[in-house]
Amino acid sequence: MQEDDLNPIQFEVLSTLRVPEDWRPLDPGVVAAVESLLVETLAPLRGRFTAENPLRINKNGLSTVHGCEKFHVEQKRQPFAWNVNTVRGTIVHKAVELLLNWRGPVTPADVVDEAIASIADNPRESASDFLDQLPAAQMAELRGAVMSAVTNFVDCFPPLKRQWRPLVEYSVLYDLFDKSVQFNTRMDLVIGQPGRRVLIDLKTGRVTPTHRDDLRYYALIETLRTRQAPRLLASYSLDSARLDEEEVSEGVLQAAVRRTAAGAIAIAELQLKSREPRVRPGMQCRWCPVAGECAEGQRHLREMAGGDDDEA
Ligand code: SF4
Repeated sequence: MQEDDLNPIQFEVLSTLRVPEDWRPLDPGVVAAVESLLVETLAPLRGRFTAENPLRINKNGLSTVHGCEKFHVEQKRQPFAWNVNTVRGTIVHKAVELLLNWRGPVTPADVVDEAIASIADNPRESASDFLDQLPAAQMAELRGAVMSAVTNFVDCFPPLKRQWRPLVEYSVLYDLFDKSVQFNTRMDLVIGQPGRRVLIDLKTGRVTPTHRDDLRYYALIETLRTRQAPRLLASYSLDSARLDEEEVSEGVLQAAVRRTAAGAIAIAELQLKSREPRVRPGMQCRWCPVAGECAEGQRHLREMAGGDDDEA
């Protein structure tokens, strides 16, 4: 497809993703400085974990521990269970992966059916059993929701050219202190070569400020692993076809170090049970497994619902 064939939204997204003429990569010294800052801040963790039993840090852990620590601890205790929302995201990502190598005209319905089948028919996919047992009506609803997101992607995101070197579900691992502290990432979509990459998070819901934090974490780990900073971070909402982008700067990487280090230390302290988790009410109270027995959470939920707390 030529640029002239793009619709206005696709053109706008492409313009945002394009490398500006005056863009210059970050100085290589920034990588060493950022790594030193991370190592220095995480020094208290040295020797507390082992390569066999490492401290594992990922996007979700950082996000929950910076929200409510008690929620973070309790959620970890719960066995993971698929639901329609989480499986929706997984199928959408699979559909985008299929789109990268799709030959011939793209019909979202065909791509979605293939994506559902490739997950449902693959016993190694943990969502397979969940999809198998989903009642027909819920499956139809799920298919509709996935279709809407995939159609938005096809209609609003510029077609991904091979020369952009797009990667889907791109995983990166970085470790410190003899592999005793491990940082994992899995990025939805990566475009470009190391040193000028664009890291994109595909969102099936609203784009919120925490998405920027997630992407900054990805940028930090990508920088430390490839020794070159990516160029741009972007959250793309598949529902609203909106792109929220941020250029990677030294300041962005330093902010990522501070948040990652503070989160990693908190996760370690909670895992080692060296202190009690702190309670911080927020949006997560709505799906917190211990909300029923948490006074702060209940108060927050009543306030969110517009209730008068004095009546409680
Ligand atoms: S209900 Fe809210 S404040 Fe209480 S533990 Fe859960 S998330 Fe934290």
